[in-house]
Amino acid sequence: MTLFFDRLQHTFFDQFREQGDLHFSPVLAARLDNPVMVSSNSLLAEELGIDPTELARPEMLQLMSGNFLTANIKPIALVYSGHQFGVWAGQLGDGRAMTIGELSTGDSQSLWDIQLKGAGPTPYSRFADGRAVLRSSIREYLCSEAMHGLGIATTRALCLLNSETQVYREEIESGAIVCRVAQSHIRFGSFEHFHYRNQPEAVKALADYVIERNFPAWVDADNKYYLMFENCVLKTAKMIAQWQSVGFNHGVMNTDNMSIIGDTIDYGPFGFLDRYDPDHVCNHSDTNGRYSFKNQPSVGLWNLNALATSLTSLIDNEDLISALKQYEPAFLTHFRNIMANKIGLEEYQPDDEPLINQLLELLQTNNVDYSIFFRTLSVFSDNRQSIRDQFIDRDGFDAWAQKYSERLNQQTITDQQRQHNMNQLNPKYVLRNYMAQAAIDAAKQGDYSEVELMLTVLQSPFKEHPEAEKYAGLPPDWADQLSVSCSS
Ligand code: AMP
Ligand code: MG
Repeated sequence: MTLFFDRLQHTFFDQFREQGDLHFSPVLAARLDNPVMVSSNSLLAEELGIDPTELARPEMLQLMSGNFLTANIKPIALVYSGHQFGVWAGQLGDGRAMTIGELSTGDSQSLWDIQLKGAGPTPYSRFADGRAVLRSSIREYLCSEAMHGLGIATTRALCLLNSETQVYREEIESGAIVCRVAQSHIRFGSFEHFHYRNQPEAVKALADYVIERNFPAWVDADNKYYLMFENCVLKTAKMIAQWQSVGFNHGVMNTDNMSIIGDTIDYGPFGFLDRYDPDHVCNHSDTNGRYSFKNQPSVGLWNLNALATSLTSLIDNEDLISALKQYEPAFLTHFRNIMANKIGLEEYQPDDEPLINQLLELLQTNNVDYSIFFRTLSVFSDNRQSIRDQFIDRDGFDAWAQKYSERLNQQTITDQQRQHNMNQLNPKYVLRNYMAQAAIDAAKQGDYSEVELMLTVLQSPFKEHPEAEKYAGLPPDWADQLSVSCSS
């Protein structure tokens, strides 16, 4: 049986290699001791044209854990810089991720980078060990697939390994690897890196690479750099509108954690809202709340401004500004449409704004669970009481419900159809912190079944999963106390 490793190619990175390794460093993997496959993602394997049974083979375990002795693999780590918490941080780079090749799924536009995250130090590790622990790897593995299940652009995760390699954090933990898969791992900070080093030719080479690789239709366009940037503005606006709509808080929206193709990337101390709290800060280290839930849309624009600055050698200022100006309307259009659809409206109308805003205010002041509220709202016509019970301020809810009811009556679709539509948009399952913690606690005891269960459930979060009903309800009281930091 040929393994998918034999299909890996280096076409695009070879172009960079010709420019003298400016954009990356060749690296060697430091393999894990006694690796075990915690979980592999059959759904993604199939999308990539990989036979899912292949991932269960012992050779695959060896390869995925960084033992490339028998394979012709030449891993690389990418360099980038970035603004962290609004401050220029200088050079960062793949400190613990290495790209092992590109996998083509047929046509030229479907080229995927295969990365191992946690496979040992690189020249960009600074003083860290290049490792990822099981805890943070489970979170990244499950959340990437959860986001994909929610229809949000994201990097993916093909498999997750644990090992007996000891990694030192606040305590000794086991080293893990996530195999991350994406159509681009180029970040805003990749462009910033060369801009601030006064290397405009390297900025151009990087942009050419992104265009050729991800937007081949624009290769010959006169304004190809503008199109790449404008696309990034629009994709980022859409992605963040979707984050807001499902209650996702990224946690570390530094420019090195923003993807040029508008994927959600770098899952660290992220969180999904339990009760609706716009001021929620999921990252324990974010003491000023820069990356709070409600700040995400404006941080998106701040980051795009930083990217625009790094593209000034390629794109006229006026054009950069005109692309940036599209961000807010694009964000608002997506957000309003999604929110209107979430409450069962077929089409957003300007008068719906107060209806949506009043609802969000009520959810906030009543500490209502965000995901459960929207999921249950579909039964409004049959069982309004079950929704009303979620509010302390019943009068407030009744006043809103009256207006909502009138608005629903303007529509012609049947209740049943509306219910059906709403259930396709309001997930029954999101990766709440306490769920990730439950999967981690079990995995630390060698029981990987919760990871597997959550993977299945989160990959189709709009469906009913009777076997996972325990994760559809309110989080336990201790969930509020969980804190997640960058320590990964
Ligand atoms: P993050 O906050 O996870 O985006 O990481 C910021 C930078 O630190 C990135 O360049 C990472 O590659 C690097 N980094 C984080 N953890 C480690 C680690 N354990 N070993 C080496 N580099 C790391
Ligand atoms: Mg990062």
